[in-house]
Amino acid sequence: LEAQFAQSQKMQAVGQLAGGVAHDFNNLLTAIIGFSDLLLLKHKPGDPSFNELMQIKQNANRAAGLTRQLLAFSRRQTLRPQVLELPLIVDDLTVLLKRMIGEKNTLSVEHGRNIWPVRADVVQLEQVIINLVVNARDAMPNGGAIAIRTANVSAAEAAGMKFEGMVPADYVLIDVEDTGTGMSQEVLEKIFEPFFTTKELGKGTGLGLSTVYGIVKQTEGFIYPVSTLGVGTTFKIFLPRHVPSPEEAAAKAGAAAAPAK
Ligand code: ADP
Repeated sequence: LEAQFAQSQKMQAVGQLAGGVAHDFNNLLTAIIGFSDLLLLKHKPGDPSFNELMQIKQNANRAAGLTRQLLAFSRRQTLRPQVLELPLIVDDLTVLLKRMIGEKNTLSVEHGRNIWPVRADVVQLEQVIINLVVNARDAMPNGGAIAIRTANVSAAEAAGMKFEGMVPADYVLIDVEDTGTGMSQEVLEKIFEPFFTTKELGKGTGLGLSTVYGIVKQTEGFIYPVSTLGVGTTFKIFLPRHVPSPEEAAAKAGAAAAPAK
């Protein structure tokens, strides 16, 4: 628990710092892009400096893309926690996810029966799923299979699972599994740290999983990677079951009993 607290404090500090730097950086990049546009106007394609200028502009644009991601990471979004059905959220995303993973990968989705509701912010949950699926895709350069599964996990089952730090309670579990490269122990130890990435420059920011971690913690859930080198990785996310308050339950029963006009 202490380690998790330290991690979330670190994330907040990094987020604030990154937000401030990213903002100033963005202004400078806007100037670089603007001036390279002006210079490009004075040169024709084929001129000796034209390609170099294009390079400056393209790279400045990429840097601007990175700073935008940093800003998004650090921005304090206003959260709107609602009572949600996780299977519906996954189903609504599948078209987008399939497009993102491309033709050489497959995506399968499987839901348990009568999945309990959870209480969370929709946009955040979507971000969690998208980030995990993007990582799964990136771990399978030659193509592979991604599976998303949801299941109810009762407190008794949770107690038997022996994941470090997990408090036994009723959870909704979402698994995102891939048949990718897997991770070494060394990599596994660092994946939730902001800016940790093994991807080449410009491809990864190292913010995907730290964002996911922050969201899962905010939702009072737990996340565990289970990974085997050369076989694949499964991210297991446990979100607390939402138990309706007596008022909520009464309102729901009332709505069901009273015929809609
Ligand atoms: P990024 O994707 O920008 O690198 P993340 O925080 O999302 O940042 O991921 C950090 C690192 O964790 C990745 O660079 C990669 O090494 C590793 N990783 C994450 N997901 C997977 C996965 N599904 N399979 C293998 N490695 C992964």
